Amino acid sequence: AKDAGRNTIRFFTGDLNFLLSKRLEIEGKLRRALENEEFFLRYQPQVDIATGEISGMEALVRWNDPQKGEVYPKDFIFVAEELGLIVQLGEWVFRTACRQLKAWADDGLPPVAISINISPRQFMSRRLVSTLLTIVRETGANPKLVELEITETMIMRNLEQSVETLTQLRSVGMRVAVDDFGVGYSSLGQLKRLPATSMKIDRSFIANVPDDASSGSITEAIIAMAKRLKLRVIAEGVETRAQLEFLRANHCDAFQGFLFSKPVTSLEATAMLKAQVAA
Ligand code: C2E
Ligand code: CA
Ligand code: CA
Ligand code: CA
Repeated sequence: AKDAGRNTIRFFTGDLNFLLSKRLEIEGKLRRALENEEFFLRYQPQVDIATGEISGMEALVRWNDPQKGEVYPKDFIFVAEELGLIVQLGEWVFRTACRQLKAWADDGLPPVAISINISPRQFMSRRLVSTLLTIVRETGANPKLVELEITETMIMRNLEQSVETLTQLRSVGMRVAVDDFGVGYSSLGQLKRLPATSMKIDRSFIANVPDDASSGSITEAIIAMAKRLKLRVIAEGVETRAQLEFLRANHCDAFQGFLFSKPVTSLEATAMLKAQVAA
């Protein structure tokens, strides 16, 4: 038993060392990636359910690792957040998305909003509002077409401060979407206080719609609640026609998901918007 105990400890230490060296490796690579501009944005269309038109695009960051190729956020956002590098990366994402908005406007495309994810650390930063405002001014993007996606959990961690920050962002015309909604169990009373403009139903509910009755009723309840609060509702992770029909029947405003399109490159997104004008 003693031996087994020692083995367990040795195994655990080895494992921890492995994790630590892995982290250090990612840390070094992330810092370099920021310097070398190895990040890029993909855009996933958000479609208005009533008209079938693209009403927005969510910006999703990717890392083009020279060795591994395209790396997804799940493999680097968490580390970047822990190291504080997320603030710098988040600013890069925001600036790049604002430049894209300006480019579409200069191209004469009809106004389409870009939704940008804000990380917990970014959201807590005192400089958030002034930084975003500076970037909007520098890039010449229309702030009314900038939508910030902030998760329900992040907002509810400190409701007072969140209300204050969101109010400032709204006052300069930016839109605010409550992301991953439904997982944080907020009350109607809390939600009423939020100066938000839309609500995104989390993919975990949509995944089981329409077959699973409880996911269906939760989705219906979220839509009804959003309507009462006069918020636009967007469903994420829509992969099937049946899911879309369920959402349409329940008066959801918009959807996003593989059914319409995976996240695409800037070039492809521009082509989609141009095709929509031609149609
Ligand atoms: P999220 O904000 O919930 O973004 C939606 C995720 O769902 C994206 O994954 C998207 O590719 C994926 N998705 C979209 N439609 C479907 C579908 O029909 N089926 C399935 N199975 N998945 C779908 P992605 O791009 O890997 O991003 C993952 C998460 O990383 C995002 O979740 C967001 O929390 C975070 N993230 C992405 N970009 C940024 C960023 O620029 N800044 C920050 N802070 N976080 C980001
Ligand atoms: Ca999001
Ligand atoms: Ca989401
Ligand atoms: Ca989600």
